[in-house]
Amino acid sequence: MTNVRDILTKYWGYTSFKPMQEKIINSVINGKDTVALLPTGGGKSLCFQIPAIAMDGICIVVSPLVALMGDQVNALKERGIKALKITGGISFDELNTLLDNALYGNYKFLYLSPERLQQEIVQNYIKQMNVNLIAVDEAHCISQWGNDFRPAYKNITLLREIHPLVPIIALTATATPEVLEDTISELKMELPAIFKNSFVRENLSYQVFKEEDKLYKTEQLLKANKGSAIVYVRSRKNSIEISEQLNSLGISATFYHGGISAKEKAQKLQSWRSGTFSTMVATNAFGMGIDHPNVRYVIHLQIPESLESYFQEAGRAGRDGEYAAAVLLYNAYDKKYVYQQFVESLPTASDLKKIYRVLNNYFQIPYGEGEFTKHNFGFSEFCKTYNLNTMLAYNALNSLDRLGIIQLSQEFGRKSFVQFLISSEEVLTYFEKDVTVSVIGKTILRIYGGIFEMATAINLDIIVSKTGQSIETIIAVLKKMERDQVVEMALQITDATLTFLVPREDDKTINVISREVEALNRKKTAQVNSVLNYIANTKTCRSVQLVSYFGETTASKCGICSVCKAKSSKLSKKEMQQIANQILIQLEGGDLNSREISEKLTFAETDILKILRLLMDAEKIKINPRNQYYLN
Ligand code: ADP
Ligand code: MG
Repeated sequence: MTNVRDILTKYWGYTSFKPMQEKIINSVINGKDTVALLPTGGGKSLCFQIPAIAMDGICIVVSPLVALMGDQVNALKERGIKALKITGGISFDELNTLLDNALYGNYKFLYLSPERLQQEIVQNYIKQMNVNLIAVDEAHCISQWGNDFRPAYKNITLLREIHPLVPIIALTATATPEVLEDTISELKMELPAIFKNSFVRENLSYQVFKEEDKLYKTEQLLKANKGSAIVYVRSRKNSIEISEQLNSLGISATFYHGGISAKEKAQKLQSWRSGTFSTMVATNAFGMGIDHPNVRYVIHLQIPESLESYFQEAGRAGRDGEYAAAVLLYNAYDKKYVYQQFVESLPTASDLKKIYRVLNNYFQIPYGEGEFTKHNFGFSEFCKTYNLNTMLAYNALNSLDRLGIIQLSQEFGRKSFVQFLISSEEVLTYFEKDVTVSVIGKTILRIYGGIFEMATAINLDIIVSKTGQSIETIIAVLKKMERDQVVEMALQITDATLTFLVPREDDKTINVISREVEALNRKKTAQVNSVLNYIANTKTCRSVQLVSYFGETTASKCGICSVCKAKSSKLSKKEMQQIANQILIQLEGGDLNSREISEKLTFAETDILKILRLLMDAEKIKINPRNQYYLN
């Protein structure tokens, strides 16, 4: 079957293509390297799925997230299309069987994580396959200038070496012109056809508000919400706390972050999708590939680190095309914090020199040597030896990895997570049965508060040193507790390895790359500044600001964002007078803060705030240290 419209109707039941889909599909079928730059929800999956079905052979899909792959493979299977995925946590035998199936079983799609491509057996099988297309989903992950940089994405070029004549399609929803260019060159694409749809989302109202009481504002928004919502927060702890607070306010919410088990993630996602919980309070781990149509609100309670990630996250609202709002709430402290967290912790060239030198000393690498030597690497031990600030050392090592000076294995920075599943009383009874279990268990409870509430990152080295038990015993005890369903955990027990990629030349080594380091730091700083500028710019339509950041300069005003709305809601003189009178009458009854005033009046809160400012300017009212207004 080669008629792409027939495929669309037969397998998906859709009658027409979304913008650009057909052009993209035809470009791929014509054997061209192709870039599909469509916003979230734009229908990128079909852009590689339909050509792969139309052509003989199998399509290799590289995708960054296991959850994404699972969803897509299931969706294909439901439509009667043969697809399989290879993810982590399988034995060598299972891997062999899966690859055998992919090779001989008439499959149309093989989904892989980029890390898998490193395995020789995977490469050998792929060599023998009749590959018709290489699809790279979330392709911006290959660019170190993007937000989701994933070093393993560089392995994708291996596919190109194995099958040099097979076209590549790169799919992404976020790419500034710069990231796009980098993605194309990193993927070694040959004069690709680039298809870009407008990033304007006509049904999405972008709103930015300065709020001292962000939770109150969130409550107001969500109480009126009939669909689903996502509230983005910065930390795992925040996600749990805010979700609890919302629940106590009568909003059905749950939380989601990178530390919870895959099983629990799937459950939470499912119950949010089905409406059991209206609101998901999440860190940015809740993201890529979330395709839930009736999200009416995406609320950010902290300032995001870049407009790239903001646009992605906000874009999860309103995928059904109905009106939805993306609301960013911030206060003065948030502005400072985002700078501290994302700009001030960037390692400078001289930080890198220092870390690189001690790293070489640590492994006793002689000057001029060390190239391609591989070492087992315990990060906490290393930091302890040289008394290093762990955050800075961590960032510096990652930079050295990015810049090709060293290579860190996947295990680097990955942590073990443990969560207790039974109550603290039950745990203590359980401990009574075995003294080793008790010693290790109690130590963990002492060091890690909160381990009953959430999956908590634990450092096995620390437990070794506190208990005097061997690492093997500790792992055995944890595994026993897992079998007994006392804990749930994800253990990271293989040591990371570190490979030096260039001979040791101390400062000289870093001098060569110092310009790149500075460029990277400048880029990060610029990204944070772009967000701060976006927040500060209350003159230009929010939608126009966002899409022009992504290189789209011809968009017109949306009419529904907080900037456009504020402009259109110009109050008449008479209305202003009316609101002012009402406020003054209320204040005659006693001092009130702005919230209390707006609760008593029926006017829009923004209008009330505007009039309060005018009354202040006119010195008719004043404000006390408790933020209450009073008559002057
Ligand atoms: P993206 O990867 O660009 O975010 P998806 O491929 O996940 O988007 O598609 C988003 C939604 O749009 C999916 O539910 C998909 O089934 C639907 N969709 C894709 N193409 C069409 C079409 N031509 N007509 C109607 N719905 C479509
Ligand atoms: Mg997608």
